[in-house]
This record gives sequence, structure tokens and C-alpha cells, in this order.
Amino acid sequence: MIDFSLSEEQISLQKKARNFAINEIIPVSRKYDLSGEFPYDVYNKAFEAGLLNITIPKENGGLGLGILDSCLLVEEIAAADPGITTSLFCNSLGQEPIILGGNEEQKERFLRPFTEELQFASFATSEPGMGSDVAGMSTTARVEGDELVINGRKMWITNGGVSKIISLFCRLEGTKRHKGVTAVVVPTETAGLSIGKPIPKMGHKASNTVMLRMEDVRIPLENVLGEPGQAFPLAMQTFAHTRPTIGAFACGMARGAMEYAIAYAKKRKAFETEIANLQAIQFMIAEMKMHYEAARLLTWKAAWEADKGWDNTVTASCAKAFATDSGMKTASDALQIFGGYGYTTNYLIEKLFRDAKLYQIYEGTSQVQRMIIGRFMLSKYIPVFDKVFS
Ligand SMILES: Cc1cc2nc3c(=O)[nH]c(=O)nc-3n(C[C@H](O)[C@H](O)[C@H](O)COP(=O)(O)OP(=O)(O)OC[C@H]3O[C@@H](n4cnc5c(N)ncnc54)[C@H](O)[C@@H]3O)c2cc1C
Repeated sequence: MIDFSLSEEQISLQKKARNFAINEIIPVSRKYDLSGEFPYDVYNKAFEAGLLNITIPKENGGLGLGILDSCLLVEEIAAADPGITTSLFCNSLGQEPIILGGNEEQKERFLRPFTEELQFASFATSEPGMGSDVAGMSTTARVEGDELVINGRKMWITNGGVSKIISLFCRLEGTKRHKGVTAVVVPTETAGLSIGKPIPKMGHKASNTVMLRMEDVRIPLENVLGEPGQAFPLAMQTFAHTRPTIGAFACGMARGAMEYAIAYAKKRKAFETEIANLQAIQFMIAEMKMHYEAARLLTWKAAWEADKGWDNTVTASCAKAFATDSGMKTASDALQIFGGYGYTTNYLIEKLFRDAKLYQIYEGTSQVQRMIIGRFMLSKYIPVFDKVFS
């Protein structure tokens, strides 16, 4: 049976997030976009409202909510401000390797503090010389006694300048590609870890993005998630769980852009009528709605599969690529509806356009998602019409 209805708890979470977005984010969105400051006050309020860290298991003091719940929440926040959403959700990204790959002691030690006070977590695979090719990472680790000694650099780390811990992926010295990838929880106050200045960006300006440098950073082996050298699948499982949420980011941003464009089209006049009466504008808005609905269905399916404990890798890639590409088109068409005014900083639509682009890049570019889907289709996909076309 197929049922798209949400539970009472989900509707209540969605409403709470929507009210928070309207009351606490929209009024300060432009301010933080202009200043590039990290919006601690917004995150403090989000923490108090129970909108952060929602996927931490109940056993560790969290709400134990699922990926679909997370998608419902972030869609509302992203409809108000994609940049603020990136740093808000980053905790779930940083915590996911611990939730998926940590032992009970690690989960308790690392996750419970997030339920007690506001703090941030980051996730680090990317490096200055590598992003898409995760197996090509060059940050190294060697085991010395009961410690892991890490050397290298990580690039583009969201919230790296404000986080307490980082779920960091590196490789055992002397190993190549997928073999040797190791996941370890690195407290940011560790000696030898230096954190760069915020990287200036085109959009998502309220989100903190930095480079990390590790010089003989010594971390106890008890912080390693799983066995040293065995963590490549953990990185991929983490992405499969977080990519639906990026799809939901894009759905939220697209919904915001669509609603903004509709409101403008109803007011702006050309050729003696509101432009909303022109079929060219109506068709653009119809396309936005079609893309939003399709993207959200795919996103929810990818999230639902993850919550069922299935391997949702391919659906997550379909959702991430489709929703973020659709989101980019919607932001572009919405700006087009604003005409020249859309190209000014007087209207929020230019911000949504700048913010939309990042969705096609982080957590695996649109090309990488197609690579994952294409590889699956040509190797593991079982044709419905088995042998009919062979
Ligand atoms: C604001 C921001 C925040 C980020 N936050 C984080 C974070 O918190 N943690 C983290 O680890 N990383 C983070 N990233 C990094 C992000 O995940 C990478 O930028 C992304 O994965 C792409 O890697 P790259 O930039 O090295 O591009 P590259 O891998 O160099 O790719 C360049 C281009 O080549 C294409 N390409 C590469 N390989 C293939 C292929 N096989 N087939 C077809 N096309 C290909 C790509 O799609 C892209 O268009 C962030 C990035 C940004 C900009």
C-alpha cells in the first residue's frame, strides 16, 4: 500500500520548523547574508526549540528521529534561508558516521553532549586536491601505540571553525584508494590541528567553511570508528543517508523561490496586465511546481528507504541530482520572472539563485550522482523484461 500522509508527530515537527523559519530566520536572513557572520543566535534558538540534532538515537539522549523527519524539517528551514540551513544540518552530517559506525561507548561519549548544550560537529572527506574522488584522499594516519597520528589538509569543511568535533576520514600510511580509509572523531581542540579563516563564498554566506591543517595530530585509537583502514563503506553509507536531506534542502529553496516569483508575478505589470496573466510566465511557474513535486517524492522515497534500513545509495543519488538540478532551474526561472529587479540585491531572489548552486556541488556533484546511478544501471540493475531485449 502506498501512503503519502504524514504522522501527527511529523506534521507537528513540520509546523514547528515552518514557524521557526518564518519568525526566526526570514527576519535575519539578509543581515547574515551581507555580514557573513555565523548566526549563533539563530542556532541557539533552534537548539532550544529542539530543531537540531534530531537524528541522535534515544539511547543517547536524542529524539531518535529518522531521515524522512529530517527532510521535513530542513525543507522548511531551507525555504527561508539555504545558507543558515547548511550549518544547521551540518551537525547531522558530522554525527552520522558516529551513528552508523560508532560503538555504544563512542555514541554515548560523542553524541550525548549535543543533546545537553549547543555545539557543532563537522564532517571531513574533501581535501585541497580531491573532492569527488573520495578514495583518492591523501591525508594520512599512522598507528603509534594507542594513538593515531594524522597529517594532511582538509578543505571546505562546513562549521570547521566552530565545531567541537570532526568526523574525519584519512588513510593509513602506505595504503592506496579504497583500502586504508579510516574514520576518526577528532576534537577540534587537539594540538597540531589548525583551522583556517572562513573561505569567502558566492552564497551560503552565513555558513562557516574553512580549511583544516593537521600536523602530527594525535588522537586516541578509542576515537576510531570501526576498524582502522575499513571506513570507505562508512563514508558512502553516510552520504546515502545525508543526500536525501540535500534533496530536501533543494526542495525547500525551490519552494521559496517559486512562491516569491508567484507573488511578484501577481503584482508586476507589462503590456497592460499583471505578468501572471501571461502564458509564458504561467508555464514557468507550472514547471516549477512539477519539478518541486517530483523532486520531493523522490527525496521522500530515498529517505524512506534509509529509514527502513535498506541500501538506498542509488535512490539517494537520484534524489540528490534531480532535486538539486531542478532547484537550480527553478531559482534561475524565478529570477527571470523578476526581470531586471531579479538581478539586483534589492530582492531576495538573487540570494536564492546564488545559494541554489552549491546544492549541485557539495555531498557529491550532480556528475558524481550520475556516475553512481550509471554504474549501477550497467552492472547490478535487473531488467524488468529479463532477457527480452538481450
Ligand atoms: C561551501 C562548501 C561546503 C562544503 N562542505 C564540505 C564539508 O563539510 N565536508 C567535506 O568533506 N566537503 C565539503 N565540501 C566539498 C564538496 O563536497 C566538494 O567540493 C565536492 O565534492 C566536489 O569536489 P571538488 O570541489 O574537489 O571538485 P572536483 O572533484 O575537482 O570536480 C571538478 C569537476 O569535475 C567533475 N568530475 C569529477 N569527477 C568526475 C567524474 N568521474 N565524472 C564526471 N565528472 C566528474 C565534478 O562534477 C566537477 O564538475 C564543501 C564544498 C563547498 C563549496
